[in-house]
Amino acid sequence: MLYVAYRTCYSKKSPIEIWEEARETPPEKLQAFILERLKTGHTSPLEQVVFWFGIEGLSRTASHQLVRHRIGISFEQQSQRYIKLDSEGPKKMFATPKTWQQGPLSEAYKAHMLKSFALYQKALQAGIPAEDARFILPQAVVSNLQVCVNYAELLHIADLRLCFRAQWEIRRLALGMRREVKKAAPLLGVFLQPKCGPARQGFCDEPYEAYRKCPLSKARPHKQDVFLAED
Ligand SMILES: Cc1cc2nc3c(=O)[nH]c(=O)nc-3n(C[C@H](O)[C@H](O)[C@H](O)COP(=O)(O)OP(=O)(O)OC[C@H]3O[C@@H](n4cnc5c(N)ncnc54)[C@H](O)[C@@H]3O)c2cc1C
Repeated sequence: MLYVAYRTCYSKKSPIEIWEEARETPPEKLQAFILERLKTGHTSPLEQVVFWFGIEGLSRTASHQLVRHRIGISFEQQSQRYIKLDSEGPKKMFATPKTWQQGPLSEAYKAHMLKSFALYQKALQAGIPAEDARFILPQAVVSNLQVCVNYAELLHIADLRLCFRAQWEIRRLALGMRREVKKAAPLLGVFLQPKCGPARQGFCDEPYEAYRKCPLSKARPHKQDVFLAED
């Protein structure tokens, strides 16, 4: 898809002829051509490549961050109006950050979640509709989504959400998306890097103090250093 999209711009041949050419061209040659294009600012063909992700067990805290992305992405999220959450069964009902997992407050966290769910169930039994009963649910409650996103937007999401400054759960989601893209389209997967990555912007543009605390700062420059060096 990407080969034909790029090649159409640079060839006298019709797209159908280019598809035929692509079928007869060794994959390494197609990949080499695409790699060269990926180094340029010609990015609109990237919008023609689309990935679908099935996401399970994401907290509403993280899903709310995900759905803030607006361009080149589309979401379907499990409804809390039509689906009544059920505390029975093996599936987890809520996410627990590591910081709550150990220490004196871990039991209190769990108790708070269970209490919210108990009141939610009570509300349903009392005839309060699911769309109103859900008001009692914590942000930790998990959710499922199907997401369709084009490659250009996925690169942008990786820029922001693979950064160490991103919140841990959405960062973990972005890492999972990258892992799946690497399986399906290895050539494209390697470009999914935080914005400081060598295949992306190549330097950090976060506040300098935050940069200094980042483990990647050992290997990647800050914009302040880059632009000072060029002066
Ligand atoms: C570390 C971090 C902290 C954050 N903290 C907060 C916070 O405290 N509060 C908060 O409300 N949000 C916060 N956000 C969310 C952030 O403000 C964005 O809403 C989110 O990252 C979505 O990204 P985007 O705007 O690039 O949208 P996308 O849809 O991913 O945009 C894709 C690209 O299109 C461009 N674009 C999109 N819409 C327009 C438009 N209308 N006009 C021109 N260009 C457009 C964008 O500039 C971007 O380059 C945070 C995000 C991060 C990564």
